[in-house]
Amino acid sequence: MNTRIGIGWDSHAFKAGIPLRIGGMTLDHPEGLAGHSDGDVLLHAITDALLGAVGAGDIGSFFPPGDPRWKDADSSIFLNLALEELRHAGYSIVNVDTTLVLAAPKISPIAGEMRSRVADLLNLPIDRVSIKAKTPEGLGVDHVAQCHAVVLVERSEDSEGLKAISEVIETQRQLEDVVDDLLSSVHGVPKRRVTPSVYDTEDIT
Ligand code: MG
Repeated sequence: MNTRIGIGWDSHAFKAGIPLRIGGMTLDHPEGLAGHSDGDVLLHAITDALLGAVGAGDIGSFFPPGDPRWKDADSSIFLNLALEELRHAGYSIVNVDTTLVLAAPKISPIAGEMRSRVADLLNLPIDRVSIKAKTPEGLGVDHVAQCHAVVLVERSEDSEGLKAISEVIETQRQLEDVVDDLLSSVHGVPKRRVTPSVYDTEDIT
């Protein structure tokens, strides 16, 4: 199976007098999102989607809310752990789609900047990241921010390539040949010119 999918969801209540952190940014707003960490609902939803895609548990199993180490923590720490789990499982992200649900502040004026910030945190081109925002019409949850995230991941070509190479390499010479082939095919570096030995090293005893 080369592709897998993950879904994440999170919610935090607004609270006066704390910074509002969403998408790794601090937004100008009189209330922030209450939580043990910085309450970044968007990064939490993406973190759970990534962990879910590779069956690696959820954010709470890695970072229990009671643990004093994660008090007011920057949520990019959680995201980085999920990225590391993904890499260990041999997968990389195809794309991430998210929907924020909150009454205020308006996300549309800063959605471009937020998309760019999240793409940077995920080390992805911006066109693989989507951030949408809606107001919670009729839900009666105007004092809560929610976020839904879906991520598609694919088996990493690098991990497949490395596995394949490790099966082939038995000697130093084979390793050099593989490196030469890679440099030549990926970077266009001409292969080494093989100079014939003046003697056969295999025969020296
Ligand atoms: Mg959360």
